[in-house]
Amino acid sequence: MNENDAARKATLRARAEIDLGALRANVRSLRAHASGAALMTVVKADAYGHGALACARAAVEAGASWLGTATPQEALALRAPGAGIPADVRVMCWLWTPGGPWREAIEADLDVGVSGMWALEEVTAAARDAGRPARVHLKADTGLGRGGCVPGDWAELIAGALRAEADGLLRVVGLWSHLAAADEPGHPSVDAQLTRFREMVAQAEAQGVDPEVRHIANSAATLTLPESHFDLVRCGIALYGVSPSPEIGTPADFGLRQVMTLTASLALVKHVPGGEGVGYGHHYVTPGATTLGLVPLGYADGIPRHASSAGPVLIEGKWRTVAGRIAMDQFTVDLGGDEPGEGAEAVLFGPGDRGEPTVEDWAQAAGTIGYEIVTRIGTRVPRVYVNDVNDVNGVRYVSA
Ligand SMILES: *Cc1c(COP(=O)(O)O)cnc(C)c1O
Repeated sequence: MNENDAARKATLRARAEIDLGALRANVRSLRAHASGAALMTVVKADAYGHGALACARAAVEAGASWLGTATPQEALALRAPGAGIPADVRVMCWLWTPGGPWREAIEADLDVGVSGMWALEEVTAAARDAGRPARVHLKADTGLGRGGCVPGDWAELIAGALRAEADGLLRVVGLWSHLAAADEPGHPSVDAQLTRFREMVAQAEAQGVDPEVRHIANSAATLTLPESHFDLVRCGIALYGVSPSPEIGTPADFGLRQVMTLTASLALVKHVPGGEGVGYGHHYVTPGATTLGLVPLGYADGIPRHASSAGPVLIEGKWRTVAGRIAMDQFTVDLGGDEPGEGAEAVLFGPGDRGEPTVEDWAQAAGTIGYEIVTRIGTRVPRVYVNDVNDVNGVRYVSA
């Protein structure tokens, strides 16, 4: 750590350090797993809480050729002037509602997901207004029961798209779907969905669609199901070095490294006698004379209240546990008589090199999944980027 870095850290209540070097390495690992398929890195929800622009740029630097988002607004932000994403990187978004910014999307050269007739009609009208064709990916519901066109309506959607294509209003560049249980090894839905996907692709191709890419794999499928890779894989959680599920393996098993490290500076350390109630509702009572440490992060920062009395924190080399309830802005840990001093670093999670808990540890403490832990880290926690090849802050931070 250089002096600048130390000074910067000391002034921060809490920070989410985002290791862009780890993210780039994860991109390289995912490309190796993808066995020749192109890689779409999914940067929706502010890159799962890591910062969309910085992560999108780093992913592209490491060889991702597609970026994916849920909403069109998220995708348009990646095409904004100054975003720094090369124009030849394809940007796709899929979560549309009626009246959405179709024309802006077409003019920004986005790829759009279309699940039904209403969306096909809106995108076609927008293409007519814009005077240029839309790039459309028709989505099949192969068994997730969420977005996508059900098999019974597929022929009609395909026919409508082909008519618009003949009129020069769109190009069907993709056929795609999404898996329900790729993170549960052996789940029978996986083979059933892959079979149905092949059937729906074959049907569309028989009707005359000639797609550039067919895609169905998310992170779990990219890492464990080569038969799901087709032409393009869409990876979100693995990009950030978090395993889709502990059932399929740890990040290290797949050559991935956790990107986010969440730390805070202890705000107070004090001696208390035994029998003291700690925090709202007194859900923790000190078992004897001890020291308490105040961690200045709470559920308003995305620390899950469900991890009350359970979440782990590394302080001076020891794991401590949240003592009692997590409050809006702060929680307490029992330091067992140790006196680390105010300003000492509390590591909620990181890649694990220093023995700290990981995102997965917090997911288990809160009864949720790693995705929810990282995406909910709030805007009040500054993201500090390290190992950015572009040195955007004018300072080169080098971790370890
Ligand atoms: C979020 C999302 C992904 C990425 O899923 P991960 O499990 O994070 O890899 C892929 N495709 C679609 C349609 C998504 O919504």
